[in-house]
Amino acid sequence: MKLLVIGGGGREHALAWRLAQSPRVQKVFVAPGNGGTALSDRLENLALSAADDLIDLARREGIAFTVVGPEAPLAAGVVDAFLAAGLKIFGPVKAAAQLESSKDYAKAFMVRHNIPTAAYRTFTDADEARQYVREQGAPIVIKADGLAAGKGVVVAASVDEAIAAIDNMLCDASLGAAGARVVIEECLQGEEASFIVMCDRRQVLVLASSQDHKRLLDGDQGPNTGGMGAYSPAPIITPALHNRIMREVIHPTLQGMAKDGHPYTGFLYAGLMIGEGPDATRPLKVLEFNCRMGDPETQPIMMRAKGDLATVFEHAVNGTLEKAELDWDRRTALGVVMASAGYPQSPRSGDAITSIPADTGECTVFHAGTSLDDGTLRTSGGRVLCVTALGDSVKRAQDTAYGVVQQIRFEGAQYRRDIGWRALPGNDS
Ligand code: ATP
Repeated sequence: MKLLVIGGGGREHALAWRLAQSPRVQKVFVAPGNGGTALSDRLENLALSAADDLIDLARREGIAFTVVGPEAPLAAGVVDAFLAAGLKIFGPVKAAAQLESSKDYAKAFMVRHNIPTAAYRTFTDADEARQYVREQGAPIVIKADGLAAGKGVVVAASVDEAIAAIDNMLCDASLGAAGARVVIEECLQGEEASFIVMCDRRQVLVLASSQDHKRLLDGDQGPNTGGMGAYSPAPIITPALHNRIMREVIHPTLQGMAKDGHPYTGFLYAGLMIGEGPDATRPLKVLEFNCRMGDPETQPIMMRAKGDLATVFEHAVNGTLEKAELDWDRRTALGVVMASAGYPQSPRSGDAITSIPADTGECTVFHAGTSLDDGTLRTSGGRVLCVTALGDSVKRAQDTAYGVVQQIRFEGAQYRRDIGWRALPGNDS
C-alpha cells in the first residue's frame, strides 16, 4: 500500500521512516518532507500543503491512509476535509483539535471534566491581566491562547517579567491573533514527562513514555525551544504512575471529548508535571494537550517501536485499534537535536551539512530543517537534525548518539551535551 504523511519535520521523518519498514508498504509520500525524506528509500517528497491538493494526490495515488504530523493542518481542518472526501486519515477533526489550538478551550475542558491542571484565568484585557498578576505574584506563567510554535509560553520569575509578557501579547500583538487572549496560570514545580496515546474514538493504544528537553542550554538553562532532545522510556513513569495517568487524565479526557460531542481520533499527547512524593499521591497535573506526537519525542519512540506500524495505523483509522499489536525495544532510545546558528531567535539557513553517517540500526539521523539543494544538503530551519541512538543503558545510547553528533559538520551547529541527564543513575530528581 501507499501512504501519505503530512509535515516536514523530524517527527514526520521518523514516522515515515518507520512506516516504510512495513513489508506491506510500497511507498510513503511526505508533504512537504525535508532533505532526509528526499534521500530515503521508499519515501518521496511532494511540495504540497493545501488540503485540496493533498486530497487530489491521495485519490490519484490510491493512498490507503494519511497520517498528520504537525498541529497547524489539524487546527485548519485537514482531517475534516479528508473525511468529507471519503478518505482515511489519522488525526482529530478541527473541533477536537481545539484541545491544542486553544489553551483557554483546553483549560475550560479540563475544569469541566475534573482533569487535574494548574489553576488559571483567561484575559483579553491587559489592565485586568496585569492586576491579576500583581495579586497572584510570581513565579507565574503567561500563555498565548493560540498556536505559537512553542513561543507562546513565558514562565515569569518576576511580576515585571509577567507584565512584559502580557504587554507583548495583548498590547503589542507580538504573536498576532494567537496572543489576543492569554491564559495566566499558576506555576507548577516538578518533573515533566510526555505521555502519548493513539485513539480511534473508542480504544486507546499507549505509546512508550518519553521526556524532552525544552531549554536551549545544558542544565535546562536558556530560552525555551521546540525541544533540544528526548529519550524513551522516561523512568519517572513507573507502572503505578502509568495507571494513575490513564485513570486521572487519559480516560477522562477521551470520555469528556465524546460527551462534548467530539469523539477523539488521533494522537493525544499529555504534557505532564509530576511533583514530589510516593507514586500513589505525588501531584500529577496536565500542563498541556497536544493533538499530535511530540517533536523530538517521536524520534526515540519510533526507534523503539517494534512490529508493523502501518498495520497499527490501519487499525486506528478503521476503528479496530484493540487488534493492534505494538511492542517496544527494551533498550533506551535517545535523540540529540542539532540546531542551526541563531536558533531559536533567528535561525540561519543555507549552511552546507556534511559527514552524516549512514543508518546503522543502532543510530539514525532524522532530518528536520534540511533541504536538498542541487545535491547539497543544507540547513533550512531552526532544528536541523535529531541524532537518535539505541543503547542498553541511557549512558550507552548517549555515547552512541554523541559519537555521531561529533562527526556531523555544519557551520554554527548548536546542541546540548547533557540530553538524558535526568535518567542517568543517581539523578532521581
Ligand atoms: P509545546 O511546544 O510543547 O507545544 P506550548 O507552547 O504548547 O509548548 P506548554 O507546553 O503549555 O506550551 O508550555 C511550554 C513549557 O512551559 C512546558 O513544557 C513547561 O516547561 C513550561 N510550563 C508551562 N506551563 C507551566 C506551568 N503551569 N508551570 C510551570 N511550567 C510551565
